[in-house]
Amino acid sequence: MPRPKLIAANWKMNKTISEAVAFASELRASLPSVPAHCDVVLIPAFFGVRPVVDALAGARAWVGAQDLYWEKSGAFTGEVSADMVKDAGAMYVLVGHSERRHGMGETDAVVAKKLAAAMGAGLTAILCVGETLSEREGGLEAHVVERQLAVAFTGVAPDDARASVIAYEPVWAIGTGRTASPGDAVAMHRAIRAWLQGRFGPVIAKAMRIQYGGSVNPANAADLLSRDEIDGLLVGGASLEVASFLGIAQAAGAAPAD
Ligand code: PEP
Repeated sequence: MPRPKLIAANWKMNKTISEAVAFASELRASLPSVPAHCDVVLIPAFFGVRPVVDALAGARAWVGAQDLYWEKSGAFTGEVSADMVKDAGAMYVLVGHSERRHGMGETDAVVAKKLAAAMGAGLTAILCVGETLSEREGGLEAHVVERQLAVAFTGVAPDDARASVIAYEPVWAIGTGRTASPGDAVAMHRAIRAWLQGRFGPVIAKAMRIQYGGSVNPANAADLLSRDEIDGLLVGGASLEVASFLGIAQAAGAAPAD
């Protein structure tokens, strides 16, 4: 049974509530053109989660949040808990996005706490991993990604990990217009799946989805999605317009590469 592709729109700090709802309503009308084996997820800023959930009610598309905090409640001004994310109607949550790791100083240990909180609340975490340019130039990319995975999944039981999604996002490809070649992406996805297999066993490793993210657009999506190893795409800039995001989701129908 092939893994369904997962195409997710990370809007970052873009779109007011009304802009997010307008996007969701326009996309909704076009969802029948997205291949049936493709799951679509919109990830607005926190304020947009509930309104976008409502705009997509009954449609074949889901909503995620961009972050969470690991404590359940209390004196954590400005933070949002996993239960709050869930209560707003989100099914997914990004954990460890590179803009949080490298822009907001999130360590591997912080990412691990967030992943545990997401899983504890029954959210599907999209765990983002990826190396910087200097790490890649130093030949350290697999080492870095495996370290990020190992710390994030510390103490996690195989059955709890199963629902999580991994997003391989090389930092040098995010928002730069520079995409990893499908060959480089495939090589890393294979390394990630091998790591998952060693950690969780073959059945769970085979079930888990591994997305690619980094300057994906409608022109390069089909080539990436045609690879068996690439189970979907996490899209930033090109997800802000309905036409380009839809073009990427429609590319999930691309014929498998030889
Ligand atoms: C992202 O935000 O996860 C991302 C991949 O951004 P972009 O598509 O703009 O590179």
